[in-house]
Amino acid sequence: MNILVINCGSSSLKFQVIDTDTRACIAKGLCERIGIDGAFTYENLRDNTGKMKSNPEIADHKMGISIVLDALTDPKTGVIHSLKEIGAVGHRIVHGGEKFTKSVLITDDVISGIREVSELAPLHNPANLTGIMACRALMPDTPMVAVFDTAFHQTMPPKAYMYALPLHYYTDYKIRRYGFHGTSHEFVSKEVAHYLGKDPSELKTIVCHLGNGASVSAVDHGKCVDTSMGLTPLEGLVMGTRCGDIDPAIVDYIMSKTHISAYDVDQMMNKESGVYGLSGGLSSDFRDLEKAADEGNEKAKLALEVWAYRVVKYIGAYAAAMNGVDVICFTAGVGENDAWARAEICSYLGYLGITLDEKANDVHGEIRQISTPESKVKVFVFPTNEELAIAEQTYAIVSGK
Ligand code: ADP
Repeated sequence: MNILVINCGSSSLKFQVIDTDTRACIAKGLCERIGIDGAFTYENLRDNTGKMKSNPEIADHKMGISIVLDALTDPKTGVIHSLKEIGAVGHRIVHGGEKFTKSVLITDDVISGIREVSELAPLHNPANLTGIMACRALMPDTPMVAVFDTAFHQTMPPKAYMYALPLHYYTDYKIRRYGFHGTSHEFVSKEVAHYLGKDPSELKTIVCHLGNGASVSAVDHGKCVDTSMGLTPLEGLVMGTRCGDIDPAIVDYIMSKTHISAYDVDQMMNKESGVYGLSGGLSSDFRDLEKAADEGNEKAKLALEVWAYRVVKYIGAYAAAMNGVDVICFTAGVGENDAWARAEICSYLGYLGITLDEKANDVHGEIRQISTPESKVKVFVFPTNEELAIAEQTYAIVSGK
């Protein structure tokens, strides 16, 4: 079945068409600058026509979806003859709160539910909803499924998701750990188990999703028992521009010292911190930082060391939480491509009986075991594919499989 996967932001809309029979992406693209001036990128991967770029007016998301559907059915560049060949649409939804513990068929009640939890993700959920409404208007007879970034983490026990604040902040405002990148953590932990010829219920796995945004999860016998992101994606690892864990009292201290608002501190911690901030604003991209560190830039070196050390601490914490670990997976932009980063992290993990195969570690974006055969824990590079995961979950729901 062809599934249209939509990931809608406030001014952008990413899409892929995935054929679930072959697991191949047959077309993909991006509408950008929606409501501003409009930019459209489209690629037919089935016939390898190359990237096509244009600048149509994209006044709103409905117009964006309409442009996407026209491109997909275009006699010259398209991959389908009519919209009937799209069996369902899968929407990535950032926050499902406690309400959504798995992917669901989109109904009026589900739309209200997503709207209700929007308070927890005010920048993301309303944008995700505009994508749902636009598809509904243009493809009223095509079933749609909501796939939540938070859902996989809903199996965490209260001891992992509760913050030690007065209880009423949880009961009144639902302040707790939710975690994000759930589709990726679920996909990688399941796929690596299948790759090893095992059922996910047989393994204790730590997934390190290390991209520009980054998070770690502990997956015990197929279920997430802890993850590093919290109420928002700011908690946990040091990221490209996010600070991750800090002493919460720092917020008030900075406000009293600099007289900037709480909002400005939040923006600073999300957009100007992480390896970007630590490197003195040099770059959030690991390629730039490693080049600078090699050339003797001490700030870049420090940024990379702080980043790796935080990942190491989380791996240790999650190995302790699960009383052991069988498999560690590196995924996302840095995890899949950066041999230095993986080697640096593994250099701390001798106590777990991990030995890295340095030659195997020299790999980019393909599935590979990078630990030696003797290593007590198997370490993998395992590319994530959130769009495929969304397409497969959508297919499973609409086909009842
Ligand atoms: P996100 O989805 O959070 O935006 P990605 O998972 O796409 O992030 O990761 C992007 C990051 O991956 C880049 O900022 C860069 O730091 C890193 N990256 C990508 N390719 C390489 C590479 N070849 N070597 C090292 N780092 C890389």
